[in-house]
Amino acid sequence: MKLPEHGMPADKVFAALEDFRKNDVKWKEGRVFGYVFDPGEKVREVAQKAYTSFLSENGLDFTVFQSLQILEKELAAFGAQHLRGGKDAVGNFTSGGTESIILAVKAARDYYRVKRPDIVTPEIILPTTAHAAFYKAAHYLALKVVQVSVDPVSFKVSAETVRQAITPDTIMLVGSAPTYSQGVIDPIADLGKLALEKNLWLHTDACMGGFLLPYFKRLGEPAPDFDFSVPGVSSMSMDLHKYAYCPKGASLVLYKNKSLRKHQIFACANWIGYTIINNAVQSSKSGGPMAAAWAVLNHIGDQGYLEIARKKLEAVKKISAGIEKIPGLRLLAPPQMTLIAFTSDTINVFQIIDEMNSLGWYIQPALSYDNSPAHVHLSVSASNVGWEDKLIEDLEKCTSIAAAMPEGELLTSLRPMLKDLDLTNATDEEINGLLAMAGLEGQGLPERMAEINGVLNELPASARKAILVSFVNDLFVQ
Ligand SMILES: *Cc1c(COP(=O)(O)O)cnc(C)c1O
Repeated sequence: MKLPEHGMPADKVFAALEDFRKNDVKWKEGRVFGYVFDPGEKVREVAQKAYTSFLSENGLDFTVFQSLQILEKELAAFGAQHLRGGKDAVGNFTSGGTESIILAVKAARDYYRVKRPDIVTPEIILPTTAHAAFYKAAHYLALKVVQVSVDPVSFKVSAETVRQAITPDTIMLVGSAPTYSQGVIDPIADLGKLALEKNLWLHTDACMGGFLLPYFKRLGEPAPDFDFSVPGVSSMSMDLHKYAYCPKGASLVLYKNKSLRKHQIFACANWIGYTIINNAVQSSKSGGPMAAAWAVLNHIGDQGYLEIARKKLEAVKKISAGIEKIPGLRLLAPPQMTLIAFTSDTINVFQIIDEMNSLGWYIQPALSYDNSPAHVHLSVSASNVGWEDKLIEDLEKCTSIAAAMPEGELLTSLRPMLKDLDLTNATDEEINGLLAMAGLEGQGLPERMAEINGVLNELPASARKAILVSFVNDLFVQ
């Protein structure tokens, strides 16, 4: 892009912006099972109005913008109460689940720096289902990740497995409610007991379920306790930009009490300039997301959310039952909320996904890892309600089309070398050569992703990572 010498008229600006969207996934129709949590046009209007009316207020300084201080306190108080934190629980507003998780990991790390100064490299135990954001946090904050497998049938972590991974340097345990991958709830009560016994910090990642599970419980769904009512839970993350339908980025990080949260706050008094006191990772930040979150929560209200939850619950039951009836498909686990994972032992799931997506759906691929096979993920959201029958009908068609497809020649020929490919020290040229072989040349992505996903799926995780980094590094150039 080059700056136009003279400013572009507003109508041209908007037309150009609209044009950029032409190849985006069409989320407004309700056939996208992820990425966008759309509350529908009426609520969207409220959100947009609130967002833009606070666009310029700056969360950098909540003493200058007291409105934002009030909003943040109200949102945190709501979160603490929703997650049964009692009067001591506190929290802050963040830009998303990742920021909430980075902050909780930072708070835990700095808490143990004081409490256990003997630990040089703190360790965090992560079940393979813990969200990637914890790896990012550990990477940024220099914690060592100790990974543990989940049960191959339930896809939940067992506290016994976690216990065996504890070392004298362990500081933090993590459980999810529910896990993103299989949509099941880890045994938080068992993990809480272990955390108390070993003096460790337990974080419940309720980015997905924190807001919605309490509603599912009210509808009679049997969900185990996962929140601050469980002894041993020190912190939690709960996204508002998922099942609370607030615009992105809106999330809450919550702590059992102030003395834990203290280690989250960053202040800098030793530079020449204004004093920095940040609750979150971001410093200058728009008041828009906070105002919009407050507006949406209050506009939809408790009964409104209960009603949305009821519809989603019915939709999930219908979709899961439908998937189980399709020959060749099976659920990886019975969904405990609104996240559905299914696979096939005989049919290439990446081909099913491409077929579905070519019909205007968006369903998400997940590569195999550890004891979890390659699968399809669906996050069922309010806008998907009403599409259940059509989804299943098309899925059945696409599954039989995929079943009739021969396995790609490329994959068959490459498979023997892919398994042990070591790219840790590969140069960009070598990686580019490989990408070209897989049909990923130059910029942009091909129409069909099945071959590429197939290749990635055969690679060890370290090689996947090297390829993805190289690919994206090349993608974002002029
Ligand atoms: C979405 C999600 C996250 C990360 O949240 P972002 O808002 O994408 O940064 C973390 N954990 C779980 C379980 C999630 O579903």
